[in-house]
Amino acid sequence: MVEEINPFENAQKQLDIAAGKMKLEPSVHAMLREPMRILEVSFPVRMDNGETKIFKGFRVQYNDACGPTKGGIRFHPDETIDTVKALAAWMTWKCAVVDIPYGGGKGGVICNTKEMSEGELERLSRGYIRAINYFIGPEKDIPAPDVYTTPQIMAWMMDEYSKLKGYNVPGMITGKPIPLGGSLGRGDATARGGMYALKEAAKYLGIDLKKATVAIQGYGNAGQFAARLVTEMFGSKVVAVSDSKGGIYSEKGLDWKAVLEHKKKTESVTGLKGTKEITNEEILELNVDVLIPAALENVITEKNVARIKAKIILELANGPTTPEADKILHKNKIFVIPDFLANAGGVTVSYFEWVQNTYGYYWEEQEVHENLEKKMVKAFKDVLEMAEKYKVDNRTAAYMVSVNRVAEAMKLRGWV
Ligand code: NAD
Repeated sequence: MVEEINPFENAQKQLDIAAGKMKLEPSVHAMLREPMRILEVSFPVRMDNGETKIFKGFRVQYNDACGPTKGGIRFHPDETIDTVKALAAWMTWKCAVVDIPYGGGKGGVICNTKEMSEGELERLSRGYIRAINYFIGPEKDIPAPDVYTTPQIMAWMMDEYSKLKGYNVPGMITGKPIPLGGSLGRGDATARGGMYALKEAAKYLGIDLKKATVAIQGYGNAGQFAARLVTEMFGSKVVAVSDSKGGIYSEKGLDWKAVLEHKKKTESVTGLKGTKEITNEEILELNVDVLIPAALENVITEKNVARIKAKIILELANGPTTPEADKILHKNKIFVIPDFLANAGGVTVSYFEWVQNTYGYYWEEQEVHENLEKKMVKAFKDVLEMAEKYKVDNRTAAYMVSVNRVAEAMKLRGWV
């Protein structure tokens, strides 16, 4: 299902479209097409059988004009520098669209966590931090969790960095467990931020979310919280969800809790009693009001875009739509809430975590939610205003908002 498309070339193509519309100066455009700094490291890890294995990792600092770079660390067997570069670029636009004082970064290690013991995973996490420690820091570049990295891994990484410095440095990484300086409200922040954007979109389009049907691809951190929150916040009906093993559909609506319990027991959403099996291709093409891709990149392509019937696409996944498919969605008047706007809630609450660490004062959960809503609503309105003013699709408009902010910061610094 996932096509072999170079994600960094997609990220560059998306930027080129916005640059053309906004008549971006060539020097600004050239600077924003490439990462500012890339670090590649090889580092040893002692395995349980006594052997030493050498792992390869990356850290990309895409652009730091607006502030220290920020972005997660992926542990994945198929990690490539192009994926890390694309994700670092998207982090730059994501931080800029919600107007938080960060640039974009990303990291990754080529490894298969499913084949590693807990001890090996801890030594890998600490080894990666030792290898990149001069490159990162709370005022320089702040990592976070991403695919196959967890709050526990963030805790080991924070501990290793603090040992190297000789004092506690909680603000060097976000997504930490609460007792080590994590923020309340971080767990569901990505999906919650998406909900605030969805609420604004529905208001704008005159769609009553209480009567809306929803399909969600992916039932991990982003997808399962989306199922829960869309039900609890708006009373919408989730009719289909999926994961890597396939999808399920129920015209009457699915109970997010029952799906979660079933997934915990059987490791998949598939096979839940009273539901119909559907494929991961079919879930995208259902006749629903809201489609939420919350799994992988490049799932909406030239090949299936004509069959997409949703009125709103809330892109919680990074890069689910190819640039070619984007044009057709816009032509078909499907309202897309683009990835780096839709899923900016995660990094926004990470920013709140870093603020709390810097301050040494911790907020109530309600305060986190309220500040997140303010940031998401403002970002959504900025993007919509740009889309209407320049008559462009929402993704291009989001790029224009972000690129303007980063370009202004680069100009003020005298770079371009
Ligand atoms: P996760 O690992 O918790 O969940 C991923 C889900 O996708 C799982 O349910 C998995 O079964 C499913 N999946 C895997 N392969 C699939 C396939 N071929 N078809 C359908 N489903 C498949 O990851 P997550 O944190 O929920 O992230 C999902 C997406 O959201 C990613 O693109 C990620 O970059 C993006 N995102 C997540 C966050 C966050 O805070 N978690 C923030 C921003 C963006």
